Amino acid sequence: MENVTDYLSSPGGLVLGIEKVLSHCPDNPALDVMQSSWEYLTDNYTEWQFTTWGSLIVHEVFYVLICLPAFMFQFIPFMDRFKIQQEQPETWEMQMKCFKKLLANHFVIQFPLFFGVYPFMRMYGIDYHWNTMPRWYILAAQCFMCAVLEDTWHYFAHRFAHDKRVYKYVHKIHHHFRAPFGMTAEYAHWMETIGLGIGFFLGFGLLRNSMHFSLMWAWVFARLLETIDVHSGYDIPFHPFHLFPFYAGARFHDFHHYNFIGNYGSTFTWWDWAFGTDKQYKEFIAKGSKKVQ
Ligand SMILES: [Zn+2]
Ligand SMILES: [Zn+2]
Repeated sequence: MENVTDYLSSPGGLVLGIEKVLSHCPDNPALDVMQSSWEYLTDNYTEWQFTTWGSLIVHEVFYVLICLPAFMFQFIPFMDRFKIQQEQPETWEMQMKCFKKLLANHFVIQFPLFFGVYPFMRMYGIDYHWNTMPRWYILAAQCFMCAVLEDTWHYFAHRFAHDKRVYKYVHKIHHHFRAPFGMTAEYAHWMETIGLGIGFFLGFGLLRNSMHFSLMWAWVFARLLETIDVHSGYDIPFHPFHLFPFYAGARFHDFHHYNFIGNYGSTFTWWDWAFGTDKQYKEFIAKGSKKVQ
């Protein structure tokens, strides 16, 4: 796969064509602000602080911002028509219970995981500087590779987590909410946070020779966009993620929480299709039950 990355980065490759197309597009108006902000951080903080505290802050800020739209939808009657399990609105008690567990999960379990990333960054000499940061479409392509690997790990680990012998000890916690809402995306037993979380880092191993630190935060952003979307409880029409073929989406994962069986993939539908674990979902859709009741 390094060849794919090399190709994407090669002057004669795909990059040249993309750059040509982009030369006709307006420049990013926020580029200067982004550059000065990034350079302020690299000038004033160490790479260790970037990787650990920086990633914690970035994760928390993205989590809150991405959860915000679907959180607000509960107060907007117009949005009720897009709620998937309309009979099961999220209560304030449910949301507080979820919020408290998230705080514990994020600060006690995930934060130490970021400390584990730093030796990896050092070992492979990952660069943090602005002037070596890849163009946004290279980062997007790398995020896509990370998503494919994470989804594969997630599918098989998630199926294992549903095995009768282990389900009640770990994964049952994530299924506490049969009708999920955005915040529940990372509501899980600590062993699940670590076990399924391994998938998040697999892409870094693949891309270690061409990785820039910005991939870490770009991938945190992309992964949170995806997982909070599929747990949002709302199926919003014209959602841009559905432009990606095989993107699972909110209705697909909502069915997993509703039905417990099938639809084990996190981001894509292809593993469920390949192993037939989307059978019950397809039957459900074929019955015309567009809304889970
Ligand atoms: Zn599950
Ligand atoms: Zn879930």
